[in-house]
Amino acid sequence: MAADAGRFAPSPTGPLHFGSLLAATASFLDARQQGGDWLVRIDDLDTPRNVPGAEDAILASLEAHGLHWDGPVIRQSERVSRYEEAIDRLSRAGHTFYCTCSRKRLKGQTRYPGTCRHLSLSAAGAALRVRTNATPIAFEDLVAGPIRETLTDTVGDFVIRRRDGIVAYQLATAVDDGQARIKRVIRGRDLLDNTARQIHLIRLLEGETPAYGHIPLLVNGTGQKLSKQTFAQALDDRRPTANLIHVLPALGLSPPAEARASTPEQLLAWAAGTFSLKALRDGPSSYRH
Ligand code: GLU
Ligand code: ZN
Repeated sequence: MAADAGRFAPSPTGPLHFGSLLAATASFLDARQQGGDWLVRIDDLDTPRNVPGAEDAILASLEAHGLHWDGPVIRQSERVSRYEEAIDRLSRAGHTFYCTCSRKRLKGQTRYPGTCRHLSLSAAGAALRVRTNATPIAFEDLVAGPIRETLTDTVGDFVIRRRDGIVAYQLATAVDDGQARIKRVIRGRDLLDNTARQIHLIRLLEGETPAYGHIPLLVNGTGQKLSKQTFAQALDDRRPTANLIHVLPALGLSPPAEARASTPEQLLAWAAGTFSLKALRDGPSSYRH
C-alpha cells in the first residue's frame, strides 16, 4: 500500500512565482508533518494554455528550493483514460448531459440555468455537464473553517468535458484527489470555491474525499492574486533561502535571523517543526507581497 500523501498540482503555464512557492511550501510542510508523501502532479490537460518548458522550470525551481517530492512526477495528460472511464461511469448512471449553449448565451451568468438539462442532446459539438442537486455540500476546511455550498444555487450543473474534448479541471482533479492515498489537499484560497464541485464528483464516483485546507493568497500592491495574468515574476532559483524566508510569514512563520545562512532544506526542516495549519485559521486570507 502506498503511503498517505498530500500533493502540489501546478499547471505548466509558466515558471513558479512567490504565490505558487507559497502553495508548494504549505502542502510540503503539511505532508512532512503528517508523515506522508508529498506528490507533484502537473495539471497539463488544458493544452492550449501549456507553455513549453514550464514543467521543467517548475520542477527545477522546486528542487532548488529544497522541495523534494516523493515518487515519480504525475502528469494528468498521461491519465486521460482514467478520466474518460470516470466520465463513462457518471454518464451510465445518468449523472451527465450534453450541452450546446454557446459562451455568448451563458455570458454574465455564474450559474448554469439548466437550458439543456432535459434535452437529451447528442455529443456532437457539445460540452458534457454533470447534474448537481439541492443537497448542500458541507465540509470543514482546515484553514477557512466550516463551508457549506449548495451547487444548484452557486454554479448549477457544471462542465466536466469541454466542447473541445478536453477533460475539465474539476473532473480530473476529483479523480486524482479522490484516490484513497490522497489524504490532504492544501492549496491557495483562490481554489476554495472549486472544492464543493470536486467533492460532489468524488462522491458520485465513490472516491474518498480528502481533507482540504486553503491557505492565504499572496496579493500584489493592488490586491490582485499573484499569477501569470498579473505578471508575477519568476522566482530566482539562485536565492532559494531568501525566497522561502519571504513567503514563510504568510504561513505564520518568522524564521530566526540565522536562517539566512541555512540551506533551503535546513530551513524547511525548521519550518516543518513549527508550522501549524490550524494557527492560520484566525489569520487574514491574503498577504501583501
Ligand atoms: N492546477 C491548478 C492550479 O495551478 C489547481 C491545482 C489544485 O487543485 O491544487 O491553479
Ligand atoms: Zn446548455
